[in-house]
Amino acid sequence: MAFDRFGRPIHYLRISLTDHCNLRCLYCMPEDMTFRPNAEMMQDDEILLLTRLFAGLGFDKIRLTGGEPTVRANVVEIVRGIASTPGIRTVTMTTNGVLLSKLAGPLAGSGLKRVNVSMDSLDPAKFKRLTRYGDIEDVWEGILAAEQAGLTPIKLNAVVVRGYNEEDVVSLARLTLEHPWQVRFIEMMPFGGATALQTGQMVRAEEMIGRVEQAFGPLTPVNGGKLDGEARVFHLSNAKGDIGFISSVTAPFCADCTRARLTADGILRMCLLREFEIDLLTPLRKGASLEEMRSLVLEAVWNKPWGHGLAEGEIAVNRVMSEIGG
Ligand code: SAM
Ligand code: SF4
Repeated sequence: MAFDRFGRPIHYLRISLTDHCNLRCLYCMPEDMTFRPNAEMMQDDEILLLTRLFAGLGFDKIRLTGGEPTVRANVVEIVRGIASTPGIRTVTMTTNGVLLSKLAGPLAGSGLKRVNVSMDSLDPAKFKRLTRYGDIEDVWEGILAAEQAGLTPIKLNAVVVRGYNEEDVVSLARLTLEHPWQVRFIEMMPFGGATALQTGQMVRAEEMIGRVEQAFGPLTPVNGGKLDGEARVFHLSNAKGDIGFISSVTAPFCADCTRARLTADGILRMCLLREFEIDLLTPLRKGASLEEMRSLVLEAVWNKPWGHGLAEGEIAVNRVMSEIGG
């Protein structure tokens, strides 16, 4: 197992399969986003080589993300390759769900364990306004297909944006009364090219909790209030599912962070919200030895930043969210 200099065990790798996406969520990327050419991105064999490198250093949990991971060619074969890498215990995916109705079965068959699906509103017009292109029906069908395929427990992610969907926390939270899903509300974070929306229309988790409790009564903490990944998880009385709050801005979970991120262009980023990065793809393509590659990763892990500086107004500006993967 690899440890950073603060003693945190780092064993969870989030791999961005592509920076491309079939939606353009307002809080994530501009409408005229330019994407990387294919040659700059990790090729399938490079993803699998790097996965073996990380697995050899004790990484056992992989989450595939993007951009939108399901638009990557050969995504099913890539999942199969990662899931069968010795040492890798779980492979999960964060997706916008648009293509899941077709892909959930094949992905489950290739070894994917679970999905987190992003869905910010149940209202078709609000959903389209937030995603610029999205049709909520596609996502809903995708969620049901994922459940059918056994990619469970299903987690739904909703970024809450003032003036767009802060009232929708109530209808989204209501889903947990009927479904055994975890609905997670996320505080919006600012990134490279931070927009007025990202910095000015963030809704604090405390406000989201207040809205849910006003509608349904008190939320009871699950797991004695311990974090589930990055979420503080609660339960409504008689609910089948749970409600999580990811308050990365107002109450960061940095002390418990076990993550590293590999961007689609093969850069190892040790904190979502810090610019510190180490290029792995260039040395790999130049023929670096296994020992050299291992040293690069271990050095990056050791130097993982302690936490982010959003509360002090420090914004990492070198990449937008879709380039890092969330
Ligand atoms: N395309 C996939 C999706 O939307 O789920 C995976 C990539 S997306 C970048 C990963 C997660 O980041 C999504 O849940 C998305 O809602 C969230 N996200 C994007 N921009 C964000 C921002 N500015 N602040 C907080 N979360 C954000
Ligand atoms: Fe695409 Fe996901 Fe970003 Fe939305 S949040 S634009 S679906 S990468």
